[in-house]
Amino acid sequence: MSDDTGDGAATGTVYLVGSGPGDPELLTVKAKRLLEAADVVLHDKLPGPEIIGMIPEAKREDVGKRAGGEWTPQEYTNRRLVELAREGKDVVRLKGGDPTVFGRGGEELVHLAQHGVPVEIVPGITSAVAGPAAAGIPVTHRDHASSVSFVTGHEDPTKSESAVDWEALAATGGTIVVLMGVGKLPEYTAALREAGMDPETPVALIERATWPGQQVATGTLDSIVDARDAAGIEPPAITVIGDVAATRAAVLEFLVGTADDSAGDGGDDDA
Ligand code: SAH
Repeated sequence: MSDDTGDGAATGTVYLVGSGPGDPELLTVKAKRLLEAADVVLHDKLPGPEIIGMIPEAKREDVGKRAGGEWTPQEYTNRRLVELAREGKDVVRLKGGDPTVFGRGGEELVHLAQHGVPVEIVPGITSAVAGPAAAGIPVTHRDHASSVSFVTGHEDPTKSESAVDWEALAATGGTIVVLMGVGKLPEYTAALREAGMDPETPVALIERATWPGQQVATGTLDSIVDARDAAGIEPPAITVIGDVAATRAAVLEFLVGTADDSAGDGGDDDA
């Protein structure tokens, strides 16, 4: 933790911390302690407004999307983390969900180690599991799904070199959870149907899970694109595909403790 850099300052530590899906009560105790103790917190938008709002402005650096709409390059973030640690700062790199699930935590981890910076991963509750749960959907269920796959929806499934094998996923019979999958929803739902998946398979979209303003849309492999458009679902959102997605309708009337206004009052967002 205290390599001497030769110029008097001991190298600080970088903590790659998961914020959980956004509800501050779903931060780990360790994440909360490190956020309070850190000299600097580098974050993007994904931890959500409530958690970001808890961090004093003076110690926050936003490395997410800039005002102009372009992304801060990953190389900048990597360089900045090393620079701050070498100044002797203890740094929290705060990431939505879990830092190692589609979060580039792995890239930052390797970069820091290669530059001799002490680093620790602090796991968080991933939106891949918490998103569905917030909408009343268990990702596995003894009667409906014995496996779950987490995939990125960012790629174009019609590309022959697509890194996600939708045909193989359809064949698992388990739950498929898609992250970054709002825009390409039409493409991968079509790919799954072509792979032989039942067009009546239940699907749910959960936007801004556990944030104020959480929204859910449900349908089937056939109808979910229309449901997305009718509800105006936008990123960040999780797509859950599989029989477990139907659980929501069965429990909605009694579902409490969710940010989603349609729950607990027999709401009919799914109509
Ligand atoms: N490391 C994160 C995932 C980062 S990839 C995690 O473990 O949750 C970014 C994607 O995560 C988004 O496009 C969206 O699919 C999902 N996501 C993250 N937070 C979310 C939230 N609160 N509600 C819905 N989706 C979320």
